Amino acid sequence: MEKKKIVIIGSGAAGVAAAEEARKNDSEADIVIYSADPDLPFYRLRVAEVLRDPEAAEKLYLHPAKWYEERSIRLVPDTHVDKIDYDAKNIKLENNETVAWDRLIVTTGSRSFVLPLKGFDRDNCFTLWSLQDAKKLSRAIREKGLKTCAIIGGGLLGLEAAWQIHQAGVQVKILEFAPILLQRQLDPRGSDLVQKHIESLGIEVITGADSAEVIGEGETGPVQGIILKDGRRIDCDCVLMSVGVMANTDLAVDAGLEIGRRIKVDEGMNTSLKDVYAAGDVCEVDDGFWFGLWSISMAQGKVAGANAAGANKSFVKETPPYIVNTMNTRIVSQGILPQEEGEGYSFEITEDPERYSYKKLVYKDGKLTGFILLGDYAKEMVALQQQLKD
Ligand SMILES: Cc1cc2nc3c(=O)[nH]c(=O)nc-3n(C[C@H](O)[C@H](O)[C@H](O)COP(=O)(O)OP(=O)(O)OC[C@H]3O[C@@H](n4cnc5c(N)ncnc54)[C@H](O)[C@@H]3O)c2cc1C
Repeated sequence: MEKKKIVIIGSGAAGVAAAEEARKNDSEADIVIYSADPDLPFYRLRVAEVLRDPEAAEKLYLHPAKWYEERSIRLVPDTHVDKIDYDAKNIKLENNETVAWDRLIVTTGSRSFVLPLKGFDRDNCFTLWSLQDAKKLSRAIREKGLKTCAIIGGGLLGLEAAWQIHQAGVQVKILEFAPILLQRQLDPRGSDLVQKHIESLGIEVITGADSAEVIGEGETGPVQGIILKDGRRIDCDCVLMSVGVMANTDLAVDAGLEIGRRIKVDEGMNTSLKDVYAAGDVCEVDDGFWFGLWSISMAQGKVAGANAAGANKSFVKETPPYIVNTMNTRIVSQGILPQEEGEGYSFEITEDPERYSYKKLVYKDGKLTGFILLGDYAKEMVALQQQLKD
């Protein structure tokens, strides 16, 4: 029998997991990953470390090159896939080469979402998604001696970038659009303690900050600051925009895959077209299940890879906890967290403002429905997660 040819587009968490799992399920298949990333596949969730320590880049690889060779997984980096031709069952690469497939796995992930902000095309304006992005910002900090960085967006990514840039000796100002930090994950008291903790480290937090324009020298010169819509001026010589991500769905749209906000898949990671699978940040499961998380991308990649190789696996949808490990603390929020007590809900709160620690347990009719933890609560977290399941 002829060997099956499994082609994977993208070398993020989902793509690499898919390749590994495909190999475990089919020792003969041709497995090849095409990726626009020039680097060996890396821990994307740790790329901000390069901002503090440029040497960290090489420590972020998922596996050495020989790991792929040993598994006969062919990795083709620095190669953009321009087109999927479903009828011809091939893909077209940027050099016009066409590559045939029997099973195709699309794991093209996300890219940074960029607000249409006037002046964001000036020198020293950055986004952060790839290792290349991190290296570029890290180089600019060091070679240009940047002193002050304004980070637009105080979510998971913005906070981690803030911490790493701060440790590189750059003054950091976090500009958060919402009236409080992590508005969707925390309550006002928890958010207040997080903000105080961040400020105690010497990082400035400006909430209710709606950016109007990046200003700089002349019409196009380097950044000198940001003007907010309420007229306030934030001085800085560098801007990092971190306001969320967009799925890389262009290829899939063009190929005729069914799309919602992302590529639609079922729990077997099947797209609307037979023999084409999708996994990770680029897809949404069933009715829109999507979280943009590493662990979910890996889990979905494994299912897609196994099924492309002939298995019959399913991805199990489970709402994950929101966890941020940064700035020498841990922020966790999970489950149902109503704003106020009543209608059967009651709260149990303990806090230590001096240590910026906070524990809020939410019960409905005596049963735990959710919790917020700030600080060192590793053991409690596991026990509470178990209670939520019971
Ligand atoms: C700074 C930072 C911190 C994060 N922190 C956390 C965290 O604490 N916890 C957590 O769970 N998650 C975190 N994340 C998110 C997590 O990293 C992503 O959810 C995960 O990496 C998504 O993996 P993926 O494989 O689906 O997509 P991606 O990692 O986006 O990979 C997509 C791949 O597809 C390639 N590609 C795209 N289009 C093409 C094309 N046309 N041709 C060829 N190749 C293409 C790209 O080059 C890339 O290799 C963080 C992310 C960042 C950037």
